[in-house]
Amino acid sequence: MKALHEQSLAELALTLRDKEVSAVELAKHFLARGAAHEGLGAYLAVNEDVTLAQAADADARLAKGDRATLLGVPVAHKDIFVTKDFASTAGSKMLENYRSPFDATVVVRLAAAGMVTLGKLNCDEFAMGSSNENSAYKPVKNPWDVSRIPGGSSGGSAVAVAARLAPAATGTDTGGSIRQPASFCGVTGIKPTYGRASRYGMIAFASSLDQAGPMARSAEDCALMLWAMCGPDPDRDSTSLDLPAEDFSKTLNASIEGLRIGVPKEFFGAGLAPDVRAAIDAALKEYVKLGAKIVEVSLPRTELAIPVYYIIAPAEASSNLSRFDGVKFGHRAKQYDDLLDMYKKTRAEGFGDEVKRRIMIGTYVLSHGYYDAYYLQAQKIRRMIADDFQDAFKQCDVIAGPVAPTVAWKLGEHGNDPLADYLADIFTLPGSLAGLPGMSIPCGFGAGGMPVGLQLLGNYFAEGKLLNAAHRFQQVTDFHLRVPEGF
Ligand code: GLN
Repeated sequence: MKALHEQSLAELALTLRDKEVSAVELAKHFLARGAAHEGLGAYLAVNEDVTLAQAADADARLAKGDRATLLGVPVAHKDIFVTKDFASTAGSKMLENYRSPFDATVVVRLAAAGMVTLGKLNCDEFAMGSSNENSAYKPVKNPWDVSRIPGGSSGGSAVAVAARLAPAATGTDTGGSIRQPASFCGVTGIKPTYGRASRYGMIAFASSLDQAGPMARSAEDCALMLWAMCGPDPDRDSTSLDLPAEDFSKTLNASIEGLRIGVPKEFFGAGLAPDVRAAIDAALKEYVKLGAKIVEVSLPRTELAIPVYYIIAPAEASSNLSRFDGVKFGHRAKQYDDLLDMYKKTRAEGFGDEVKRRIMIGTYVLSHGYYDAYYLQAQKIRRMIADDFQDAFKQCDVIAGPVAPTVAWKLGEHGNDPLADYLADIFTLPGSLAGLPGMSIPCGFGAGGMPVGLQLLGNYFAEGKLLNAAHRFQQVTDFHLRVPEGF
């Protein structure tokens, strides 16, 4: 039998059904790996009693002949999803030890599918960041080179999967936080169309952009999990789409003969590092061998996605984070003079620098006199960016390009320069602003032997097409199966 931590989700489900291992033994195996590699900083919370109780329930269901696809298979959640049984911190001191009275919809759905929760994964504070260095607790280290960042904000999720501490994880993507860490850590991740997955119980950053998705080793595994995660949630998230969940596994294995892959010329400019470019070019050649056709397309407002996103996301964040006032939940300053002083001290103590920076920018761009000049202009360009994609999709079925301009950088390399992080988001932000589904799949290695991800973007609701295109690539390549040395 293949080592348990080397098995795919589907393989694990079979191993459990065939009684080669129990869900409790399987959970113990992964908890032990998590503990052995604690130094990576991937987990913020574990609770063995809770995990093993869930696993025992799964064993009981298995014994009764329940054949739910993911029954007994472990998963770990980004600490942006609220959970009853584990603390939910969003990577912030503001929510240290915070216990939610309910589980996020995505957590409820995966639990109903039988998945067993291993714990909560580290992330940038309130999902703001590209390197996971904005976590208030600890940085996360990239298992391919522990002197490098794993990407962010779902850095803990990417590392848990890459280092085989969990077979799969949840992530969230507001401007690239599933795709970019997946790319930097050599795992597969998909952000679905905005509205596919319920945002209920996802601690809000920028509500018009936030979207949950799976991070796993392969497109096949992501398809299984995405199916379980998605679906309408009309009573709890008014932006959730009225679309039944699809069994994305069924769409895998279709031929991609004649698939038109659009390559946006703006994604291949001077800013793209040559090592990343080489890996992307090689991947595109592989697609041609599989029968796809490459067509050049244009996304002329790609560069504008950075200022547009860094106006809209902070604007929404400044509003969403106003709830952390020391009254309802989370941290409250110990000493203060009056109510206003309590608010000020609570927020000064509870939030980290990047969060404060965004609250200030967001408040500024929404304020009287600046709203028209910044926020409104940004909204107009956001619409144009979405329209540019519709023009491109007249000529192609999916869009392909790099996820990020470089491989993962060194911890501390961007120092106190937040702009360096923002600029590195250039290729993920356009798809986010348009609300489109996007993936990252491992497609090679670049400088320092670090993984490179290929980004695939689809039109609205085209997750099945994306997963199929990714799966076809993974059937003829093995980048997604490589394991960092020592794991
Ligand atoms: N890096 C981007 C930011 O800091 C995206 C984060 C995300 O997708 N959550 O806002």
